[in-house]
Amino acid sequence: MREISSADITAAVREMCIEANHKLAPDMVNALKNAKDLEQSPIGKRVLGQLEENLQIAEEDTIPICQDTGMAVFFVEIGQDVHVTGGWIEDAINEGVKKGYTEGFLRKSVVKSPIDRVNTGDNTPAVIHYFMVPGDQIRITLAPKGFGSENMSRIFMLKPADGIEGIKNAVVTAVRDAGPNACPPMVVGVGIGGTFEKCALLAKKALTRSVEEGASDPEIRNLEKDILERINKSGIGPAGLGGTVTALAVNIETYPTHIAGLPVAINICCHVNRHSVRVL
Ligand code: SF4
Repeated sequence: MREISSADITAAVREMCIEANHKLAPDMVNALKNAKDLEQSPIGKRVLGQLEENLQIAEEDTIPICQDTGMAVFFVEIGQDVHVTGGWIEDAINEGVKKGYTEGFLRKSVVKSPIDRVNTGDNTPAVIHYFMVPGDQIRITLAPKGFGSENMSRIFMLKPADGIEGIKNAVVTAVRDAGPNACPPMVVGVGIGGTFEKCALLAKKALTRSVEEGASDPEIRNLEKDILERINKSGIGPAGLGGTVTALAVNIETYPTHIAGLPVAINICCHVNRHSVRVL
């Protein structure tokens, strides 16, 4: 049994919160650069140039890429041969979020209750999804999520007879309805299969996959390409001002499902598709 201290988890999470909010991963930086070459509309090109400049300023001057520094969402894969010492893993992660958002001067966007709306003051609690995996390491993925795009996400409980066309229509409908509110160009995370909650989680997880990767299954990879093409014909464009690049990527994750169902979840992320990963 390998021991990992809760203090090391807190230190890693603190660093990840600051890093993710100031610097996009190389796949997202490249995707935005390529988008400027692909974009047909002059205003769209100008917007993409401004987004590129914004990324540079954020990194050089240590200013958050966006004022909405998001709710901290974590995927934590815990090796079954790991023992966390010195405290509960959830407390360790939340302590890291508190330190990262406070010491990194990041906006605190979390309210204690969805009804009374009082800010917790330190961006905790985080939303944490745990997965037990083989091995003796902990892999932590952080994806701070802004709610301009989160609010535009959807779930469709389709019938099996709706088929591939039904899936394509569901994703394109969600993107069209989102329009400029999701701060395009977007990254579209799609979960297909499982149950109501499982497909939502798949859609969120899909956003953490590199936009350069594509699904491992060739059939799903083709579906990603087809849907991306349809989305980019919508004309929404960068910042919703019209253009040919509405989305940078469509990432799909699938899971087995029930004979009577075809759940499809669409989790939309804006151009600030942040993620940071640490393996302890
Ligand atoms: S949706 Fe994204 S770009 Fe828009 S305000 Fe929120 S974090 Fe910022």
